[in-house]
Amino acid sequence: MRRTFVSMLILILFLTASNAAAADDQLPASAIISRFQQYLQINTAQPTPLYRVAADFLLAEAESLSLQSQTLEFVAGKPLVLLKWPGSDPTLPSILLYSHTDVVPVEHHKWSHPPFEAHVDPDGNIYARGSQDMKCVGMQYLEAIRRLKASGFNPVRNIYLSFAPDEEIGGHDGAEKFADSDVFKNMNVGIVLDEGLASPSEEYKMFYGERCPWWLVIKATGPPGHGAKLYDNSAMENLFKSIETVRKFRASQFDLVKAGLKAEGEVISVNMVFLKAGTPSPTGFVMNLQPSEAEAGFDIRVPPTADVESLERRIAEEWAPTSRNMTYELGQFKQKTPVTDNFGRPRVPTTGSSNPWWALLEKAVQKAGGKLGKPEIFPASTDARYFRNQGLPAIGFSPMANTPILLHDHNEHLNQAEYLKGIDMYESIIKAYSSYVEHPSKESSKDEL
Ligand SMILES: [Zn+2]
Repeated sequence: MRRTFVSMLILILFLTASNAAAADDQLPASAIISRFQQYLQINTAQPTPLYRVAADFLLAEAESLSLQSQTLEFVAGKPLVLLKWPGSDPTLPSILLYSHTDVVPVEHHKWSHPPFEAHVDPDGNIYARGSQDMKCVGMQYLEAIRRLKASGFNPVRNIYLSFAPDEEIGGHDGAEKFADSDVFKNMNVGIVLDEGLASPSEEYKMFYGERCPWWLVIKATGPPGHGAKLYDNSAMENLFKSIETVRKFRASQFDLVKAGLKAEGEVISVNMVFLKAGTPSPTGFVMNLQPSEAEAGFDIRVPPTADVESLERRIAEEWAPTSRNMTYELGQFKQKTPVTDNFGRPRVPTTGSSNPWWALLEKAVQKAGGKLGKPEIFPASTDARYFRNQGLPAIGFSPMANTPILLHDHNEHLNQAEYLKGIDMYESIIKAYSSYVEHPSKESSKDEL
């Protein structure tokens, strides 16, 4: 009875699958878009992401693709889904296709379509939080693999896919612990693909490094005094001098960008993010008293190519000089990410021909009919830094051309035609990467990777 039932079920599934395949031929895009919508509809917004639901969805996708799967939980309730497509030569370094499952919160009333409905408008734009950052990429990896499997392709290198939690809140319970884990070491990863940015032009953006966040708090102290008195070295006056100096530096960096001499990721950006001063009273601030303390916080972003020592000197000598009774919290640079990897090497993998992964990617994108812009440094932070800390090359690439940059913005959306084109790109890239075998005569190639 049970067996009959199972056979019937298999038959039904088979027929459904054939029908789906037939339908796929007529409308190849609809099933693909609907899978993307399903993933987008899972509300994984911080601070209460539905990680378990997302993990179950991804595991079901993996099963439909016959990929090996495991769920790692470095912190309870924060699953990282790790999938594997074994290659024919597991001794070669593997490929890691990385993505994160969480998204940033939304202000519902500012959206023209509900952010977790994945509504497709008449122009084909899919509206959803995560449509650009970065559920698109996670699903495109899977769709590319679906096509490669259907075409009978077999990888030489092991291919891993990881879907990690918490990128949007720093990745400490996700990518950071993953990159440090024995599981990761045993994966013998040779190259990581992670997220990039949408590109408003027809050229895809590619990132080979990213700026490091330095969060700086400058504190000024000085003698308190009557609000009517003019005197030197008050905390407020001293802090103002610092702020003026910081603003001049900010303008000089911004001018380089505005003049087109440097890309956003190549300059040191600094923005004041808080000011804390004044003597509170039950009716507001005391108005006739100059306070003895004042503080300002700055978000500084440092490109890996910057002269770090000179920036540190600038902070100590010009922004927060002891001669003006100033101190700064260097130790509490809340994320003073090193610009070198754990082995003291600069964290910028060489682009161009000395890095085979770079050249392979360039060629693969061209082959799939895509155009690449000049390699850039990512202006903000991604989980890629944890892999770069391990000395690994990581390339940031989210194939979205002709698309406004809307990550973390209201009405984040991606056009379905662009989404489908992105799958072509990954199909070509995954094929090229997983088939790549280093030339045996190249002794130094491992180092260059
Ligand atoms: Zn992201």
